Amino acid sequence: KAKMEGRGTCRSFEPGMDARLQERRQLEAELAVAVADNQFVLHYQPLHEAMTSKLTGFEALVRWNHPRLGLLAPSEFIHLSEETGVIDALGEWILRQACSDAAQWPLPVKVAVNLSPIQFKQQGLPLQVAAALAASSLMPSRLELEITESVLLAHNEHTIETLHSLRDLGVGIAMDDFGTGYSSLSYLRSFPFNRIKIDRSFVSLMCESSESRAIVKAVADLGSTLGMTTTAEGVETEDQYRLAKENGCTDVQGWLFGRPMPASELAAFFEAPHALTA
Ligand code: C2E
Ligand code: MG
Ligand code: MG
Ligand code: MG
Repeated sequence: KAKMEGRGTCRSFEPGMDARLQERRQLEAELAVAVADNQFVLHYQPLHEAMTSKLTGFEALVRWNHPRLGLLAPSEFIHLSEETGVIDALGEWILRQACSDAAQWPLPVKVAVNLSPIQFKQQGLPLQVAAALAASSLMPSRLELEITESVLLAHNEHTIETLHSLRDLGVGIAMDDFGTGYSSLSYLRSFPFNRIKIDRSFVSLMCESSESRAIVKAVADLGSTLGMTTTAEGVETEDQYRLAKENGCTDVQGWLFGRPMPASELAAFFEAPHALTA
């Protein structure tokens, strides 16, 4: 009773706040059943070798096929799923689905899967990855796990141990969105990544900003020295593609090559894996 009175009072003073809170509550409730109800889908965005433009794989990007709101981007629900703990079940579903999709592809290219920092807190992550590989019979070398600097922000024994256990399975580890977090360089020293993905914010400014070009080149050089491949993220134009190559990026990803698309639309990429779609 007291609670209801409280809410009523709140509504009369701050209607916007109350509506947002209610929408969030509803989304939370819907999110709680969405995994079991199979409402998530994976879209795939092609990854290409820079020099040859050869297809090297696809990154799995999750979307929520929401019954009321339509197809939702990860920015609209990943954070909420992390706060509510739904990311555990969702993350496991994403891993299993991406591995089983990739196992069906006509070419043995890689599949990249994004991991939430919350998934890293679970003791069972390496076991979960091993189980997804076993269930799909996907070769471990075809799986690449993408983590962001925030995973390493609280970097402790457990994080580094987990990363090593994952590497021991034979899967690749990529540092995603590189350059957007803090003290990036120390992270590269604390763990041997296979790949650095240079954040789109640097790539998109390469044409107009010599500073951005210098940063991209420095990261690509560093990657090369440390034995890591470097992917330029968010390549949208031919000029950005050219500059990514000129500045030493080994791989590229972006709308110039292909947007994220449903699994059913990948066939064309396998038929003409060297062709640009733009
Ligand atoms: P990300 O891992 O850095 O993924 C790349 C994002 O950039 C994707 O957005 C992709 O659609 C977008 N993108 C790719 N090429 C271009 C381009 O040329 N131009 C522009 N403007 N954008 C481009 P999306 O799918 O909305 O995903 C956003 C973020 O959500 C991802 O960033 C990732 O951090 C997270 N995310 C996506 N899928 C998953 C998932 O399965 N699990 C987890 N934990 N996070 C995910
Ligand atoms: Mg990613
Ligand atoms: Mg990224
Ligand atoms: Mg990004």
